[in-house]
Amino acid sequence: MRNILITGASRGIGAACAREFAENGDRVFINYNSSKSEAEKIAAETGAIPVKADVSNSDEVKRMREIIGSCGKLDVLINNAGISQIKMFTDITESDWDNMFSVNVKGMYLVTRAFVDDMIAAKSGKIINVSSMWGVMGGSCEVHYSAAKAAVIGFTKALAKELGPSNINVNCVAPGVIETDMNAHLNSDDLEALKNETPLMKIGTPDDVAKTVFFLASRNADFITGQVLNVDGGMVI
Ligand code: NAP
Repeated sequence: MRNILITGASRGIGAACAREFAENGDRVFINYNSSKSEAEKIAAETGAIPVKADVSNSDEVKRMREIIGSCGKLDVLINNAGISQIKMFTDITESDWDNMFSVNVKGMYLVTRAFVDDMIAAKSGKIINVSSMWGVMGGSCEVHYSAAKAAVIGFTKALAKELGPSNINVNCVAPGVIETDMNAHLNSDDLEALKNETPLMKIGTPDDVAKTVFFLASRNADFITGQVLNVDGGMVI
């Protein structure tokens, strides 16, 4: 049985990943920050284990490491927790900027740092980071989000090179528009326009991303590292 940690698994893409891995018989730890009841609901449905931690807080990440570490070595780490914000560049405050990077970039660093020693010692492991198509191509009115998600890609590529000799695969998925709370602000006209911009003419589902993450965590992806896999209906070609 593999041990899997998914950050930000109380809702959306992370919750879909939790279901996908749990169905496969893996022991899944679902990290959450504020959505305790949602995390407990998924845990009850799937048998996964909820673990609270704000990924941007090093003390909370250390506590999460102790709880999970008591169940053995982590086989797969999915750095999915993230926040977004739509704002004109000129309206983004210093605190908006710091917050964006704290969760999306520092959180990924802290959680990876907390678990990577065991993977290196075991000479095995898979790390999958969740970026975004905006990190690949840049999104207007999302400069801080795009910059943070581009940092996820840089982190992935550099770490893949460093950890390759330790037989650890580090990859990243870059979802397009996915139907989750993160896009709850989009109205039906916005969604229709986005569908029309997408070659496959549809909005993605959390399951679309979860299945790709599952593939990257599987033996079928053993010779793949340092890659950005776009799960976006063809938005980035
Ligand atoms: P979502 O439905 O808003 O869920 C976000 C998840 O992140 C929640 O489980 C939330 O947990 C968790 N989270 C936020 N801040 C956290 C923190 N400080 N510590 C721990 N967990 C935290 O978003 P989603 O659409 O599923 O997004 C998941 C990932 O996919 C994000 O990295 C996002 O940037 C990326 N993405 C999404 C889309 C899209 O179209 N939806 C596209 C590209 C990339 P709590 O509620 O418990 O705080």
